[in-house]
Amino acid sequence: MRLLAVCWIAAGLVGLLLVLVGCRGLMPPFFFQEEVMGTHFSLTLYGVSPEEGVAIAGRAYHLVQELDARLSVYRSDSELSRLNRLAADRPVPVSQTLYQLLDKSVIYGRLTHGAFDVTVGPVVRLWRFYGSHGKLPPAKVLEQTLARCGYQAIELDPATRTVRFRKPGLEIDLGGIAKGYAVDRVLDALRRAGVRNALIDLGGNLYCLAAPPDESGWKVCVHHPLEANAQLGCLRIRDRALATSGQYMRYYTIGGRRYGHILDPRTGQPADNALQATIVSNSAERADILSTAAFVLGRQKFASIIGQLPEVEAIIVDRPSSESPFRLWITSGLLPRWQSVGGIQPQPLY
Ligand code: AMP
Ligand code: MG
Repeated sequence: MRLLAVCWIAAGLVGLLLVLVGCRGLMPPFFFQEEVMGTHFSLTLYGVSPEEGVAIAGRAYHLVQELDARLSVYRSDSELSRLNRLAADRPVPVSQTLYQLLDKSVIYGRLTHGAFDVTVGPVVRLWRFYGSHGKLPPAKVLEQTLARCGYQAIELDPATRTVRFRKPGLEIDLGGIAKGYAVDRVLDALRRAGVRNALIDLGGNLYCLAAPPDESGWKVCVHHPLEANAQLGCLRIRDRALATSGQYMRYYTIGGRRYGHILDPRTGQPADNALQATIVSNSAERADILSTAAFVLGRQKFASIIGQLPEVEAIIVDRPSSESPFRLWITSGLLPRWQSVGGIQPQPLY
């Protein structure tokens, strides 16, 4: 009520137009949350009315639902599932969306020396099946399943926009890239709708568009890899994406040991070279891919490829050793902006 009164007084003084602009600036953020792609999706939008917020968020949600229907390996009627069924027998024409994602997947497969591999899905499922029964997959079954994998066997033909698998039994799972891709598409849609200031979050794949009023960036905190509901530190992020891969949320316990859902495609074993990897980059798709890859590669190997990756910053937590519970490594572009929460001091990564 008080805000309304101030606006009306101002209207008398400086005219309606100025007031509308002024009141818009004072509007609280519009918040939207839904479940999609098997995870939570939220939007925080500044500078929109509640009616505009409902319309914009509804369209963004619909967009993510459409991508899920196309790209999910859990839906037998998705375009991806159809490709998985047919592509070992013949080249299959695919949509531009799926083609672009597969093209990126192969490029990053090469760049990360196979640490990021979209064909590792059958092994992920094998671990999930045995892990949910508290068991390790038998070595022989693991070996046979791993033999079906390898991104090198994905054959892409740009002229006909077709995809063929050069290996029977090959299957693609876009779980390590699709959420990031969807965030980038939501960002495009928000920009087209005139939104200038937003936080997009799809299962921890974030994009921070500009910043909340009077802030230098969106405050984003990185989870503690070993303590539930604790944080390692926070950053102010502006016009950048951020994604974290780790096993703090999704893991199985087999024989008292934790096994995560991210596998090292080169061994078929759950990746254990790092405790957690966070990437800050210019696109959510890159952040998603590279957080998975950095988690698989671990600090030292990831540091050896980061020079080929412009616009990429990383926060990597090392596995515990006998000397320290764990160590935190941060690239130079983020280090000066890092605000430690639990007092753990970071070391320079690159
Ligand atoms: P993220 O949570 O973004 O790190 O992605 C993890 C998901 O990607 C898993 O649930 C699997 O579906 C898939 N995945 C697991 N390991 C890999 C890998 N090494 N490369 C690509 N995708 C993977
Ligand atoms: Mg990822």
